[in-house]
Parts: sequence; C-alpha cells; structure tokens
Amino acid sequence: MENEKKIIGRCPVCGGNVVKTCKGYRCENNTGEAPKCGVFINGVIGNRKMTDEEIAILLEKREIMLDGFATKEWKTFPTVLVLNDDGSVDMQSIIGKCPKCGGDIRVGSKAFNCSNYSHPSAPCNFVIWRNIGGHLITLDEARQICADGITANPVEMYREDGQRFEKKLGVSPDKSQVIRV
Ligand SMILES: [Zn+2]
Ligand SMILES: [Zn+2]
Repeated sequence: MENEKKIIGRCPVCGGNVVKTCKGYRCENNTGEAPKCGVFINGVIGNRKMTDEEIAILLEKREIMLDGFATKEWKTFPTVLVLNDDGSVDMQSIIGKCPKCGGDIRVGSKAFNCSNYSHPSAPCNFVIWRNIGGHLITLDEARQICADGITANPVEMYREDGQRFEKKLGVSPDKSQVIRV
C-alpha cells in the first residue's frame, strides 16, 4: 500500500486522476506553482464529511444531491453540489421551475418546494415529495417533473402489502400535485 495513491475518479476538467489527500480530493495536474488544473474538492463541505463514493459521483456527473449539510447553527439542510469548470464547488438548491406558477423549485429535507409557498398575494402549494410510494425521487426525476411534467421512465414503488409496481410520476392536470400516471 505504501506510495500507492487512492484514485477516486477522473477529473472532468482535464482528464487527470483525482486522488484522495489528507485534506480532500486533488486532481494530479493540480500541483506545483502553475498548476494545469484547478480541481481540488475539500473533504468537508458545509460541515459535512464527504465520502469517496460521493466524490466519485460528483466527478462523473458534475453534480450530486445530498442531505446532511449543516449551517453554523447546526441546522441541517440538503443541497445539490455542482463542480464548476474552474474546479470550485457550489451549492445549488434550486433544481427547476415550478410547473404551476413558474417560481423556483428548491430541494428541501422532505420535499422539493416552490419558493412562492408563502408569497403574500399568490401563494403556491406545488410540492414534489421526496419519498413517493417508497421511491426516493432522484434529482433527475425531479427535474423531469418540473421541465416536462412527467418522469422519463417508470419508477418502482411499493404498496402497503409490499407489492411492487411501476408507474411514471407526473404533474396532475390541475398542476397542484404529483400523481402516478
Ligand atoms: Zn484536472
Ligand atoms: Zn409554484
């Protein structure tokens, strides 16, 4: 094991190997005084320790939705981490536009909520629960529901007796909720 580096994934900016270091995850081309690449991902983001598996997904897909980030007051929240071209990582909680009112849809701990939820004159109650029938809605599925009104593929859900079934999820005709279609 000595002298062996732990390769976590491929750098999406320059194609080099991203290796685990004592402080985080560094592209092998991000060394020296004039590095060719700026990718370095901290091992702790938003008071949350990142796992190697999560970093591997972030490198491959350039984004990952995760729970368990915490504010300075230790209030926890979910967000989407986005890996930028310059190697920096941003938190992006807005995942799409509301199909009902056009407001921003944000990821929350239990649901994707419309930012106009408490709008004084035009409140919007559109919501995509994150757990529907035992299926945890992925970031891609939530985006498809917002943009296209329906998931691209059927998702696997469960009845109370344990019976599995597959349905697409889509916006109801009155655009108030997400239904099985
Ligand atoms: Zn790189
Ligand atoms: Zn809305």
